[in-house]
Amino acid sequence: MIYLDHNATTPPAAEVIDAMLPYLREQWGNPSSLHNFGRSVASALDRAREATAALLGAARPSEVIFTSGGTESDNAAIRALAAADPKKRHIVTTAVEHSAVLQSCRALEQAGYTVTFLPVARDGTLSIDAVANAIRPDTACATIMWANNETGVCFPIPAIAELLAARGVPLHVDAVQAAGKIPIDVQRVPIATLAISAHKFHGPKGIGALYVRRGTPFTPFIAGGSQEYGRRAGTEAVPNIVGLGLAATLAKQSLDGCATRVRALRDRLERELLARLPGAHINGAADQRVPNTLNISFPGVDGEGLILGLSERGVCASTGSACRAGSTEPSHVLHAMRLSPAELAGTLRLSLSRYTTETEIDEAIPIIASVVQARR
Ligand code: PLP
Repeated sequence: MIYLDHNATTPPAAEVIDAMLPYLREQWGNPSSLHNFGRSVASALDRAREATAALLGAARPSEVIFTSGGTESDNAAIRALAAADPKKRHIVTTAVEHSAVLQSCRALEQAGYTVTFLPVARDGTLSIDAVANAIRPDTACATIMWANNETGVCFPIPAIAELLAARGVPLHVDAVQAAGKIPIDVQRVPIATLAISAHKFHGPKGIGALYVRRGTPFTPFIAGGSQEYGRRAGTEAVPNIVGLGLAATLAKQSLDGCATRVRALRDRLERELLARLPGAHINGAADQRVPNTLNISFPGVDGEGLILGLSERGVCASTGSACRAGSTEPSHVLHAMRLSPAELAGTLRLSLSRYTTETEIDEAIPIIASVVQARR
């Protein structure tokens, strides 16, 4: 199998699995217990929190809370920021967010909020002026992703965060596809809240984190016990959290490798496919993408057929976001970029990771080229 679908999920690192096992087998105590058996588990949570804070550049580990993943982090943050001031009932977001953000915004619309869904340019980029112009006196918050899951295009979050902070509008950032791929430093970028998910950077599934800057008003999304500084109730998923912590450390260590080696592999894949398949074109601003993602259209080819054809030849890829797999709806991201119906249909998302090898890319290139040609 050649796995080129790392934006859907990544293989857990072997070290991560090894680190998790003792917390399933021996160290299964409750971190809230007062006895030593529980206290030693609480120390493991502390270490994981420090490692996660380090990946994000957070000043204090207590600004990191563990959640069940990117979806919960997005839901929790958007609801908390939207509810902070009852007089403010307007939210700014973009048309290309992940459904965790879009549906949270839609739910708030149902509750009486007004939401501005900012359009993107044909190359998937977002203008800072568009964000500035959307702000109103009653804007409660903005929720804008760092890197797009389908195209890899990065929005200029540092500049957007500065602009919003100057206008007093708290910003939530969905950084699920940015964490581990590009540097994140919340001490330099005035973000209020930021979401990440472990399974996108070689950690386990069902675990994520939410950064909440100190002083940000925050009502818990999940009510109950006082775990996670009273911000997210429920006994912590200790093995998963330990896995997230180590995955965060390994991701931070591999950032340079992602910027150079992974980028070089992605660029080679891109060059070769463009050279072998006339008419193919890249979706998303080439110089503003995370290093691991390639979104490419082959007009006239049916995307789902392409995925199945590739799967038969052992190559795992995607047409868009995994959450939409099985659905025939065109991608809302590519739609917002105004692709033609033929381009929309024949789209492939190829996403790499630090475990992708040169051999895999060398083998994948002729397979992808021949499957596309056969389906044309
Ligand atoms: N946000 C983005 C940009 C994503 O790509 C994903 C996962 O596909 C999520 C949020 C949801 O994360 P999770 O799978 O941890 O719920």
